[in-house]
Amino acid sequence: MKIIPIAIPTPFYIGDVNVYLIKEDPLTLIDVGPKTKEASDALREKLQTNGVKISDIRRIVLTHAHEDHCGLAKQICDEAKNAEIYVHAWETGHLFGRLAGDEHKSLMLRAGVPLEIFRQMRESYKDMSLLTDTLNESEFVELKDEMEIEFAGGVLKVLHTPGHTPGSCSFLREANRTIIAGDCVLKRFTPNPIVSPDPSDPNKRFKSLAEYLVSLARIRSFAPTLVYGGHGEAIYDYDEIFHRYVRSIDERQKTVVDSISKDAATAWDVANKLFPDAIKKDVHQFLAVSETIVHLDYAESQGKIAVELKEGTEFYRKI
Ligand SMILES: [Zn+2]
Repeated sequence: MKIIPIAIPTPFYIGDVNVYLIKEDPLTLIDVGPKTKEASDALREKLQTNGVKISDIRRIVLTHAHEDHCGLAKQICDEAKNAEIYVHAWETGHLFGRLAGDEHKSLMLRAGVPLEIFRQMRESYKDMSLLTDTLNESEFVELKDEMEIEFAGGVLKVLHTPGHTPGSCSFLREANRTIIAGDCVLKRFTPNPIVSPDPSDPNKRFKSLAEYLVSLARIRSFAPTLVYGGHGEAIYDYDEIFHRYVRSIDERQKTVVDSISKDAATAWDVANKLFPDAIKKDVHQFLAVSETIVHLDYAESQGKIAVELKEGTEFYRKI
């Protein structure tokens, strides 16, 4: 099975996003890039270099529904008539903006984020949501764990690897233990499981970090020889990355737990203490709060700190 990585520019700090062309029948793209002219031109050109036209694409499979990965899906689908889009049903990002729902608002207010700050966060994500088209539920095929995506020359097995987002999926080629992992595994960046409402109960928070650790271990259980991430170069030493991730998560856990005293503090208070600079800047504001919440959730689930809900806001305390 020929898997061809193609780097596509994004307007984000992270830089290029990796799109994977599976040059097999039916012609398939795993992720597509953001909805910008630069990305669309680059994709067209690089496909052409590989002897493929957009109109030849039959399937678009999404690792997750962040704009830099899914933005061009609908455009490509419209141009390549009869192409199908595959995405996990828990990826709600393609249905509405990332912070647009009421459940996002209550999630942030419960974390002690002031309403005015939440409004600013929502604004900054509004711009970002312009980098993708909205898909209706009838426009995609649902990816399910262990499902096999068939090609003339073999299959890619779907691994539901939640954490970075609830519906993140990876794709395993068992024959040579190759995995396409989206943003679950990145060579040069520390992982960031993002806070999200629980898809099965939007009033609850998804246990992003706990789920993420399970996903990392699950990928490891296949002893992959090659892992293709959503950004940056391919990974030949997954075990090393795995240990680096676990170490950095442990360190962050320790910092978060150490910052909790006998005095009650909200996630917002803790985020301000841990990320005094990031907390002032656009989307970093949300990411700083997100990182703090997922770690507080994990620490609480491990019995390291206590949480108490008072008038709709959660307060953390040293045990
Ligand atoms: Zn992502």
